[in-house]
Amino acid sequence: MAPIFSPFPDKPDHNALELEILELWERQGTFEKLRELNRGGPKFSFIDGPVTANKTLAVHTAWGRTLKDVFQRYKALQGFDQRYQNGFDCQGLWIEVGVERELGLNSKREIEEFGLAEFARKCREKVIWSATELTRGSKRLGQWMDWGNDYFTFSDTNIEYIWSFLRLMFERGMLYKGHRSTEWCPRCGTSISQHELTQTGVYQVRSDPSLYVRFPLLDRPGESVVVWTTTPWTLPANVAAAVKPDVEYGLRANGEWVATARYPDESFTRTVLGSELVGLRYRGAFDELAPAAEVEHRVIPWEEVSLEEGTGIVHIAPGAGAEDFELSRVHDLPVLTPVDEAGRFYDSYGWLHGLSTSEAADQIVGRLAETGFLLEAGSYEHRYPHCWRCDTALIWRVTDDWLIAVDELRDSLLDANATVEWTPAYMGKRMDDWLRNMGDWNISRRRYYGLPLPIYECSCGQVTVVGSKAELAERAMSGFDQLEELRRPWVDDVPIRCEACGADVRRIPEVGDVWLDAGIVPFSTLGWRNDEYVPEGYATGAAKGLTTADLPDHSYWEQWFPADWVSEMREQIRLWFYSQHFMSVALTGRAPYQRVLGYEKMLDENGREMHGSWGNMIDAEDAFARMGADVMRWQYCAQPPNQNLLFGFGPAHEIKRKLLTLWNSCKFLVDYANIEGWAPTWDDLAEGPRGLDPLDRWLVARTDALVAEATAGYESWLTVNVVRAYESFVDDVSNWYIRRSRRRFWDGDETALRALWYALVQGLRAVGPLMPFLTDHLWRVLTAPCADAPESVHLAGWPDVNEPDAALLAEIGELRRVVELGRRARATAGVKLRQPLRALVVDGASSARAHADEIAEELRVDEVSFGEVEASELRVKPNLRLLGPKLGPELGVVRAALGAGDFEELADGGFRAAGHELAPDEVLVERRGKEGWAVAASDGVTVALDLELDADLLLRGRVYDLIHTVNTMRKEAGLELTDRIRLTIPEADGDLLEHSDWIARETLAVSVEAAGAEIGISKA
Ligand SMILES: [Zn+2]
Ligand SMILES: [Zn+2]
Repeated sequence: MAPIFSPFPDKPDHNALELEILELWERQGTFEKLRELNRGGPKFSFIDGPVTANKTLAVHTAWGRTLKDVFQRYKALQGFDQRYQNGFDCQGLWIEVGVERELGLNSKREIEEFGLAEFARKCREKVIWSATELTRGSKRLGQWMDWGNDYFTFSDTNIEYIWSFLRLMFERGMLYKGHRSTEWCPRCGTSISQHELTQTGVYQVRSDPSLYVRFPLLDRPGESVVVWTTTPWTLPANVAAAVKPDVEYGLRANGEWVATARYPDESFTRTVLGSELVGLRYRGAFDELAPAAEVEHRVIPWEEVSLEEGTGIVHIAPGAGAEDFELSRVHDLPVLTPVDEAGRFYDSYGWLHGLSTSEAADQIVGRLAETGFLLEAGSYEHRYPHCWRCDTALIWRVTDDWLIAVDELRDSLLDANATVEWTPAYMGKRMDDWLRNMGDWNISRRRYYGLPLPIYECSCGQVTVVGSKAELAERAMSGFDQLEELRRPWVDDVPIRCEACGADVRRIPEVGDVWLDAGIVPFSTLGWRNDEYVPEGYATGAAKGLTTADLPDHSYWEQWFPADWVSEMREQIRLWFYSQHFMSVALTGRAPYQRVLGYEKMLDENGREMHGSWGNMIDAEDAFARMGADVMRWQYCAQPPNQNLLFGFGPAHEIKRKLLTLWNSCKFLVDYANIEGWAPTWDDLAEGPRGLDPLDRWLVARTDALVAEATAGYESWLTVNVVRAYESFVDDVSNWYIRRSRRRFWDGDETALRALWYALVQGLRAVGPLMPFLTDHLWRVLTAPCADAPESVHLAGWPDVNEPDAALLAEIGELRRVVELGRRARATAGVKLRQPLRALVVDGASSARAHADEIAEELRVDEVSFGEVEASELRVKPNLRLLGPKLGPELGVVRAALGAGDFEELADGGFRAAGHELAPDEVLVERRGKEGWAVAASDGVTVALDLELDADLLLRGRVYDLIHTVNTMRKEAGLELTDRIRLTIPEADGDLLEHSDWIARETLAVSVEAAGAEIGISKA
């Protein structure tokens, strides 16, 4: 007869098991069945933040994807109808720089020579390749999305939505061209905006020249001001030197002026306030070059002059620094812009022309030394911003950029953020800080593969912002027919007529900040301004042929906007969370999401950043093969979102060990149910087990508690709480229920089988969203005998949340604590568990009183009594983890009092010290017992074990050892659980035959004899 349940291997092969389940899902259409089940149900709107399509799936991307999947799966189990639309981010520097590298292009000029049309096609190919890879990896991870109906931000539809947004900003007077100093990447040839600088890896430690330079004062022969700089290339653009007006400056004997606070050990011939130096003129270091020759260099006042570094006199180059540029406005200083888009000196800079800022550094230092301007040259290590994409050190340039003004919207942005529920809460405060302090949004980039800004600037001064493709068609003077996509180069060849003067006007060449692309998604993908619903209508422009996504209409948008929930890493506060928040508040006055789950960074398991070049990067494919997706997901979900995740194979190993306990519990059930021929029915799950022992009732209550805890965990967006609840549940099932019920299983007790089956199967439902493969596999095995069971755990719905029997749980919880303490006392005394002992005294844990027999059995003691433990010594230490935050600076006083023994023990097991009441869990208690006793205590419970051994105890200890050895031999010999044996024990152990019935019972022996020198077993 075939067994009721398929037998279990000894341990799971996660990778193989997952591939099998993936194949089953595919074949059975499990995801489609789930969507069908929930269609028409209440809506849960999740908007996917688009992943940049320039790579394969990485383990840190898999983290975010796991969280998205977990909560969508949880909501699906609760019957919510969802969209499941995945998104790809398809434009911008990430894509461009990758393609440039592949093509071996090193500058913008080379891209233009290569040809923009061909370059655009190469970028699109890269996106298609990556989208395919990311889809494959995400499916392998177990992420259920509506693959194939993805949105791509390079679709004309997405671009048109941004155009209409920009037009609105222009109409409101918020879109303007600014002339300002900005961080600039000389390799990428574009400005970089404030929010891009907040990304990981932008600030890197690097070494730069440290120069002290003297500027001779024209009106005071023999005197000079000394400045300090780490950017030699900015010196030819120097126009002023700033001093702090109310600070003291000193004149050195050699005529150099510096701030006295910077040189406390020096003596000065004269001191004055900075204000007295203001207005003095000086000779610049590069006045022989044409641009500087025109300039009257002078000393200016500036409150922000730092006295933390340098000389207290600051070199000011408005064309090469942001604060410098602001000062030029205040003091009407000339602005010299020394370098071009590629960061190379303009021709007007004579012998410097054509040099890059770094190439120029050495020559500038050499020249300063020759001309006597240089006082000192060294090197200086500091954190300096780099291009987030290509790692080139940034410079500052004064340039024209298009910006969206923020001030008018700032209050609304803050008000809208106040309606959002952030997890963890501090991330919402960070968003507030950002919204409060951010400057205008620089949206223009001088690049190629990006959203074409629809701005047309006529030489007559008229500016036009085109709001849609249809409008472009209407206003086009020529070239509209060749418009393949709303993209460079094609869109550049569609001039429009200037409404003011009638001239042909071309689009400005700039493309848009990539965060516009992602920020518009809650509008472009949900059909905000569409009049009609177009099936498969989203695939426009570059997205043609890549997706079958629909283009919904406004009523659809009304149903799905705002998102109930979004989730990305913390970095996205200033990126995607911000850009969509900004655009949404601008367009609708509302936040685009109601709840956000953010999470911190991923590092390697030793806490280091992961880098390809450091060899500690883990490839997702490798992780699938060696850990399995479930173990990866468990690792992600076990992580509190307010801390960095230390991801690696070490933690994965630990998780596999824990999952093995679950596996073994299921295997235990299956093995004994198969022996007994016991089969569950669906009612056993739907209605719960009936007619139970107290231990079974506890198991049911424990299962109810798990479901309640898991529900609360998901509802608060904290997977870590679900993981902790489940791990503790599995421990209770295995190390208490099964352990305490072994004999019943040996006897084929159906009630025990049913109770265990119920607990295991219900437990799987609680963690199905976290660990979709293993749970579904186990579900399919364990429910196979039930005719009415859903074929997948993911189709079984969320279990009912029953109020658990709290009193019963507390009682057994206390019992388990006593047993744990007893084990700890044994371990401390070095007495193994198989050695029976005479007596145990329990102090506290009154509800465990009813379980004295179980305690005796678990701890192998003959007698358990409840009463006062006489301890000769009591030491109490603060539990720093809890008391540190609670007491703050008072902690030291409390710690000292406890250390001096100056405390009072309270009835609840807590203590009073230095005027503070400390709860039992806030202290660590160490009790030393009387001579011959082992003591352990925690949380107000103390146990004491009598360690004295006599001949009878020693004999019984040897019987336990023998039983253990024989049962190990049975296993090693491959005997079935039910096989009977004949047992021979060594003659030397003949005294153990006194207990031969006991030995026979525990080893399933039909006979026990003493003969020879070794233990022998044979199948009876
Ligand atoms: Zn760059
Ligand atoms: Zn005009």
